[in-house]
Amino acid sequence: MAEKELKFKILAKDRKSAARLGEIKTVHGTLLTPEFIPVGTKGTVKSLDFEQLKKINLNCFFVNTYHLHLQPGEDRVFDLGGLHRFIGWNKLLMTDSGGFQVFSQARNSSFGGRRALAGAETETLAKIDEDGVTFKSFKDGSVHRFTPEKSIEIQKKLGADIILAFDECTYYPATYEYAKKAMERTHRWAGRCLEAFKKRSRFNQGLYGIVQGSVFEDLRKKSARFVGSLPFAGLAIGGVSVGESKTEMAKVLEWVIPDLPEEKSRHLLGVGEIDDIFELVARGIDTFDCVMPTRLARMGLLLVKPQSPKKNRPKGKEFTLDITKPIYGKDESPIESDCRCETCLHHSRAYLNHLFKEKELLAYTLATYHNLWFMARLTQEIRESLGRGSFLKLRKHWLGR
Ligand SMILES: [Zn+2]
Repeated sequence: MAEKELKFKILAKDRKSAARLGEIKTVHGTLLTPEFIPVGTKGTVKSLDFEQLKKINLNCFFVNTYHLHLQPGEDRVFDLGGLHRFIGWNKLLMTDSGGFQVFSQARNSSFGGRRALAGAETETLAKIDEDGVTFKSFKDGSVHRFTPEKSIEIQKKLGADIILAFDECTYYPATYEYAKKAMERTHRWAGRCLEAFKKRSRFNQGLYGIVQGSVFEDLRKKSARFVGSLPFAGLAIGGVSVGESKTEMAKVLEWVIPDLPEEKSRHLLGVGEIDDIFELVARGIDTFDCVMPTRLARMGLLLVKPQSPKKNRPKGKEFTLDITKPIYGKDESPIESDCRCETCLHHSRAYLNHLFKEKELLAYTLATYHNLWFMARLTQEIRESLGRGSFLKLRKHWLGR
């Protein structure tokens, strides 16, 4: 059964919120939670090597099944000893089902990025049927097909420690009827994923179920109760951060979390902006992945602590410093004077500004190193505050509320 390969334990609970301190044990080590999981789409966290990741103390990253399926293909990875051995990483790995990319690719190419109501059109263009989804490769246009069984088979060959059930990610906005239909299909697929997961495997893995239901309270609650009742090792909340507001996302968590079994770990898919982190931890999320810190780094946007929470900086920019701005060209100070990361210990803002101007490869490495160090220290601070019972105080310190 799924639970045996992955053990989750709650170590402490916050008294004033639903936040919890915990640990996820796998054959590739233990993950203390709450924890941020960086995205390493193609088996690499862009611009960093694994020694750097270990030095930052990030012990898990998220790999995309869809991309590895297209290149180099799961059979080759399997023949080369599985993902850990293939890439040379002996700590935790997580893979998604591939569904998110398949659905979003179909949608983006069809609507040219325009936001449309998820409904019949999306279904036709993505060619979703009861059995699975047919889609074209973004690389060469070749036709592929994912079913719940196929997604699990691919993920079993890749061999990540935490793998995800194949679901239909409902985009925002979606009609109630469509969200309901997609949720019910996700539920039927959940059963098929569990069946496929029972087959013999070379690797020790834990399968997470996914809760859907868009922004509709009754659907979200129904999905949480249903998926939560199945023998999954952990649970993930999907269909968030797909265009809805932060208030709507908070509501989804408010509806879903109380209906999930407490003893199972909870992952939030695709969320990780600084203010979101305090919100999701306070509501009882254990792990979350997001491309934000690494993507921002490559744009020259470096994460910094708020200098003064009262000082109103533009929304969404409270925690970033744009190193490409001319004012940093002569600035000899590090990104953050109290940051102990290798970038801040050895390099100035002026040097980073120069590297970004010249588009030197080292710019991406140094910026990504700092941003991930920042995330790892933030989640470490959160865990320490949970151990001490001072989580809400920490949140106030960071967000000023
Ligand atoms: Zn730093």
